[in-house]
Amino acid sequence: MYEADSIVVGGGVVGLAIARALALAGREPIVVDSEKGIGMVTSSRNSEVIHAGLYYPEGSLKAALCVRGKALLYEFCAARGVPHRRCGKILVATSADQIGGLDPIVAAAAKAGVDDLRPLDRADLHRIEPALAGVAGLFSPSTGIVDSHALMLALQGEAEANGAQVVLASTVDAIEAGDGDVLVTLAGDEAPSLRTPLLINAAGLGAQALARTMGALAPDHIPALHYAKGVYFALSGRAPFSHLVYPLPEPGGLGVHLTLDMAGAARFGPDVEWIDTIDYDVDPARADRFYGAIRRYWPDLPDGALAPAYAGIRPKISAPGEPAADFCISRPRDHGVAGLINLFGIESPGLTSSLAIGEHVAAMVRQLG
Ligand SMILES: Cc1cc2nc3c(=O)[nH]c(=O)nc-3n(C[C@H](O)[C@H](O)[C@H](O)COP(=O)(O)OP(=O)(O)OC[C@H]3O[C@@H](n4cnc5c(N)ncnc54)[C@H](O)[C@@H]3O)c2cc1C
Repeated sequence: MYEADSIVVGGGVVGLAIARALALAGREPIVVDSEKGIGMVTSSRNSEVIHAGLYYPEGSLKAALCVRGKALLYEFCAARGVPHRRCGKILVATSADQIGGLDPIVAAAAKAGVDDLRPLDRADLHRIEPALAGVAGLFSPSTGIVDSHALMLALQGEAEANGAQVVLASTVDAIEAGDGDVLVTLAGDEAPSLRTPLLINAAGLGAQALARTMGALAPDHIPALHYAKGVYFALSGRAPFSHLVYPLPEPGGLGVHLTLDMAGAARFGPDVEWIDTIDYDVDPARADRFYGAIRRYWPDLPDGALAPAYAGIRPKISAPGEPAADFCISRPRDHGVAGLINLFGIESPGLTSSLAIGEHVAAMVRQLG
């Protein structure tokens, strides 16, 4: 039986940010991930947008951690040379009946401390993005994009330089409550068993399955997991936009939006499809719906310009039709198991919030003593 100072299950952007924060606080976490590389699941299947924090209910973790995470992320990326760009985003209302939908966004943003939104009328829209068709909108100057892989490498590097280890191609099969600590079984006959006073379950889509292996954890502390898949289509040729363009949010997601990557290539997505089993296929037939959704704000999108790109799956803890749930981060005081912190439902804005989630979890750990 090996003793570990602390174990983080999951080497996605969130697990790596937590490991970095713990290492900077003097701990020596071991990050364990099933995949052969870091961040190969949801952390490489997203829009890579640094969200401003416009949409989340007052008082929610999502609102607080997104706004704090955005500030930390810009600072971190600038200091470490992680490619990113504060390109700004336009939220566009495409018909008169959508204009009213902008007000609650301004109100939610203000309550979360985002006070830099600027209203746009039709003439402003045309001046800023001539190809855009819209009747009104909002400009969010603090929205940006980041190279998520470079970010994760920088997080890993800083974590390791401060005493963390990242162990890849290793699956945590089960966790068990020990005597005030947590026992960890890795997959494989030869794999060692581990004992640790602190286990952070940051396993993303695998967090619920892992939590369920622990008999001592009451099932009502494990929220149901629902998969909301979103696919992307890439634009062939250059996009006539220099800002990100978002329609108004739709149930389950933020609407089929246009994002740009650091190389200036444009992609559209993600849509929302509730599924029962994980699959990352992109059905080319979904393009029809994309053309329709995109042409509401970009009528000149040429036929044949969209090519299937990739898909991601949101680890939702709210069912279809229910209001979006907040991030769920639970500690021993909440669920009664010593040494265990669980993260569930870390969907968007999890990338933006990652450094703030790291800070939040490290503060929880300090309080454990
Ligand atoms: C379509 C889509 C678009 C998004 N767009 C944005 C965006 O633009 N901006 C933004 O801020 N956020 C966005 N997000 C959210 C963001 O991508 C996630 O919140 C974030 O990547 C979650 O990171 P994570 O580390 O929690 O999960 P993951 O990246 O999934 O990492 C979890 C890791 O745990 C590992 N694992 C699981 N089970 C085990 C086990 N038993 N043993 C060992 N390892 C295990 C997995 O291999 C995986 O690497 C988007 C999400 C989706 C799906």
